[in-house]
Amino acid sequence: MKRNIAVAIDGPSAAGKSTIAKLVAKKENFIYIDTGAMYRCVAYYCLSHDIDIHQEKDVEKCLAHLEIKLTQDNKVYLNGQDVSQEIRKDEVSLGASVVSQYEAIRTFLVQSQRKMAQEGNVILDGRDIGTVVLPDADLKIYQIASVETRALRRYKENQERGLEADLETIKEEIEQRDYQDMNRAISPLKKAKDAIELDTSDLSLDEVVEKVLELIQQVREG
Ligand code: C5P
Repeated sequence: MKRNIAVAIDGPSAAGKSTIAKLVAKKENFIYIDTGAMYRCVAYYCLSHDIDIHQEKDVEKCLAHLEIKLTQDNKVYLNGQDVSQEIRKDEVSLGASVVSQYEAIRTFLVQSQRKMAQEGNVILDGRDIGTVVLPDADLKIYQIASVETRALRRYKENQERGLEADLETIKEEIEQRDYQDMNRAISPLKKAKDAIELDTSDLSLDEVVEKVLELIQQVREG
């Protein structure tokens, strides 16, 4: 019987992880799990229910009221509502980076991510996939790009989505999230020892996808 493959993509904000993961998932018919969307849902719930994201205990209480669903056409549902667009706003991005520091939130979401990862061949992207969620993943990629490249990509993405876009603000927001994600006490963003670093600053989307497909092929060939 063929065994399932698990691919972990970690790296800083806006490095293109989800774009690559989605394309690879489609080509390989893998299940894609956008773990960042789950932290975004927690932040979005707090922001839209007047819950102060800086009050850890208050944020924890939300967990009992959250039902997060990720669909294979890349939609995100929170308590039955399609929040795919809303959770991409800058205030939600920064909010996600705050609530993701809380132990109870991480424990809850990591547990649910591990469960989802058992469903078949999977590709997950986030900050702690190779280090915490799936330390035994078959392939671990640490995807990076310069902050300038990342800011410019996010700027174009926001423009395409019709969201507010100011390059300098986006760059500052990315730098702030990098700092928060890399310096938090629990599961900070770092490269797993056995991860392959992929600097995408000077690579096209197709080149990065090709590289990941090649690496998956190598896993298959053992
Ligand atoms: O990947 P994305 O930018 O959507 O993630 C939003 C935020 O969620 C990140 O800045 C990070 O703080 C948090 N996150 C995390 N662990 C993950 C995925 C995301 O802490 N596995």
